Amino acid sequence: MDIYEYLTAHEDRFVQELKELLRLPSVSAQSEHAADVAHCAEWLKAHLTGLGFAVDIHPTAGHPVVLASRRNRPDKPTVLVYGHYDVQPVDPLELWESGPFEPTIRGEHLYARGATDDKGQLFTHLKAAEAWLATAGELPVNLIILLEGEEEVGSDNLGPFLSEHAEELKADYCVISDTSQFAPGVPGITYGLRGILCFELHLRGARSDLHSGGYGGVAPNPLHAAVELLAGMRDARGVVTIPGFYDDVRPLEAWERRQWAALPFDPLAYREELDVPALAGEEGYTVLERLWARPTLEINGLAGGYAGEGFKTVLPAEAVAKVSMRLVPDQDPRLLAEMFINYVERHLPRGVRCRVSSKHAGKPILVPVDSPGMQAARRAIARGFGTEPVLMREGGSIPIVNTFREVLGLDCLLLGWGQQSDRAHAPNERLALKDFHAGTRSAAALLGALAEVAPQAAND
Ligand SMILES: [Zn+2]
Repeated sequence: MDIYEYLTAHEDRFVQELKELLRLPSVSAQSEHAADVAHCAEWLKAHLTGLGFAVDIHPTAGHPVVLASRRNRPDKPTVLVYGHYDVQPVDPLELWESGPFEPTIRGEHLYARGATDDKGQLFTHLKAAEAWLATAGELPVNLIILLEGEEEVGSDNLGPFLSEHAEELKADYCVISDTSQFAPGVPGITYGLRGILCFELHLRGARSDLHSGGYGGVAPNPLHAAVELLAGMRDARGVVTIPGFYDDVRPLEAWERRQWAALPFDPLAYREELDVPALAGEEGYTVLERLWARPTLEINGLAGGYAGEGFKTVLPAEAVAKVSMRLVPDQDPRLLAEMFINYVERHLPRGVRCRVSSKHAGKPILVPVDSPGMQAARRAIARGFGTEPVLMREGGSIPIVNTFREVLGLDCLLLGWGQQSDRAHAPNERLALKDFHAGTRSAAALLGALAEVAPQAAND
């Protein structure tokens, strides 16, 4: 029996086992579930031990890390697979059609909290390893499987864990299946992520709120100052006006514009889905280009004065604004923070004081698309899904990807088997059984494909 025949023959059992994993309510955010999170780690340890891995559960300051490895191929590369076994809270519970921890198949989907994010996706790598061991007697590579229990609460202890175990975690490739395909039937490899940078501005005027009749026209208004300041940061064409903002933006390559334009994406349907009369953003770029490859500056919150019932004709004493940027390669959050603060200092309307703080900085990511690992991933997905993957980016940030790069020096292969429409973090989360099985085949093919690449070539 070859490996793909094995995977097909055992599909039903894999789904039964995944259901067992999905029944464990490993909600990391809620302390009443701490024992469930721990139980889930134990379940994974037992399962991986049964498959033939050496497994340890490592306690952290938060939830434990499950670390499994099998290294019987000294001549072959080492692959590190990351996944997370914790899940998001389930509220609002009344919107679930079946219990979040009672995995249920309806139509073509398996419904449960964690089905796509990330238990269903991480489980494909376990079953891929099983299939290799059952049909070939050994894995084609050295395999490390690292399963985190606090991704959904910010991965606070992951960085320190990676540093402490850096030697043990040395690998040639890192694989994460915690993203999505481009669309149903259109598998993808994510090779770029936007970075993030957030600011908080506190503007102060007079010592206290003032009567707008008694003082209006003379006393400075910090709320008005905030509006003026922020409005000046972007022009009517959607272009950010902060000097230097675009200096390090890497232009899109011709192949990217061509391939993205060919993706099955309908801007009109997208606009209708959002229920807006028009889309925003920079002229000269398509929607996908704006989402994936252009930086943004957005006001996320603005507060001050009185917005309650009726009128209170007041000149507010203070105003608060929250602003965030999404950054693209090769923008450096530190430089952008300086530019922003300089801009505020130069353009702050007279008569008010402003305190700015920057937080939550994350670098953008762009990995080479022609590396040996990427080529192996393309072949593996073509084998598993029966169609070539597209190369895509994502508008959001995945902080752990930066952590792997900074601590272990590894670029991650982001191979998502789920769909955007799988309702991660929302009621009725699901995973298409078809995607689960295709993902498992791809994960199995990936181990074989990576085995063919010389370890020393892996990270140039
Ligand atoms: Zn996830």
